[in-house]
Amino acid sequence: MKLAERVRNLAESATLAVTAKAARMKADGIDVVSFGAGEPDFDTPQHIKDAGIAAIQAGHTKYSKPASGIPAAKRAVCEKLARENSLHYTPNQVIITASGKMACYLVMSSLIDPGDEVIIPAPYWVSYPEIAKLVGGVPVTVAGRESNDFKLTPADLKPVLSNRTKLFVLTSPSNPSGVTYSPDELRALADVLHEYDLFVMSDEIYDRLVYDGQECSSYAAVSEQAYAHAITVNAVSKTYAMTGWRTGYAAGPAEVINAMSKLQTQSTSGAVTFNQHALVEALTGDQAPVEQMRLEFQKRGRHMYERLIAIPGVRCPKPTGAFYCFPNLSETYSKLGVAGSLEFAELLLEEARVAVVPGIAFGLDGHARLSFAASMEQIDEGLTRIEAYLK
Ligand code: GLU
Repeated sequence: MKLAERVRNLAESATLAVTAKAARMKADGIDVVSFGAGEPDFDTPQHIKDAGIAAIQAGHTKYSKPASGIPAAKRAVCEKLARENSLHYTPNQVIITASGKMACYLVMSSLIDPGDEVIIPAPYWVSYPEIAKLVGGVPVTVAGRESNDFKLTPADLKPVLSNRTKLFVLTSPSNPSGVTYSPDELRALADVLHEYDLFVMSDEIYDRLVYDGQECSSYAAVSEQAYAHAITVNAVSKTYAMTGWRTGYAAGPAEVINAMSKLQTQSTSGAVTFNQHALVEALTGDQAPVEQMRLEFQKRGRHMYERLIAIPGVRCPKPTGAFYCFPNLSETYSKLGVAGSLEFAELLLEEARVAVVPGIAFGLDGHARLSFAASMEQIDEGLTRIEAYLK
């Protein structure tokens, strides 16, 4: 059997693979500490579940009409973006999608022609380069300096931009590094990006999960020009502990949103209808559970970071957002006799029973990603095992 080249060349999502493997081991009775999953360990808040259940009971179980999202969901997204991100959109500039990942896929499918370059800062979320390739684009990865917590500066960005560049992908707070660009840092990047005829896909799925007073801004909010060229992607998954609901959204220029909507009519036919009702409740209802979860993540993130940097030979950017630490472990590789992060993660899982995602999946082989969307007890147990393993 000969499968299509696009699938043969496609890497499976490493984050989902590690998460599934750890879950399998746990189901087999093996005592694994999993730092793999990029998903909150909290339950979806009750009032949101109730809204989903009520929507099913009320019969909202048919196609989403229109496929680009029910009007109430689009209005809720406009309200959220105005309230929290100082971004003013009208419902025709919004699409509701079956996950943030799907929104990214629709953005790239709508903008990228074969050979167009997609600039992706490293470390990057595992799916961006693969989606870029799937739609015929050429992913161009560029790493910031470790001393700048991998954040790109205009000097890092300029050499990779050209008239072949069609899209720049920004993720702040970052998955996997946990670092967040300040509004000034974003403005500096925007000044460089404005010199080119390109779009920016700003994935802001962690925008509510920022810590220690870190300022966080939407890229589209930094200037009128940024707004005109940005597609802001988000989802309810991380903020509201709704990863399994697969409900995301995007906002941007109406022409791009229309193209994405057209594609959606020929793919998923839209996000699940009753989940869109739950999204309305999530975005417009009681926000207290978000703050409770944020404070808990902040505590866990600080703790994981402190324990990681106390291990000899381990360096790590301080997480100011999202729920990941991304330590540089390369100094331990030679001692352990491993060639890179894949082998490191494999051995750590087999011998110390701790699941982490190898850094190579995010473009930096000297690192591993550890999610702190795990209980304090699990974080302590996992770090104790890692410490002992690296001794
Ligand atoms: N975004 C999460 C992560 O990075 C969930 C898994 C995925 O879709 O990659 O772990």
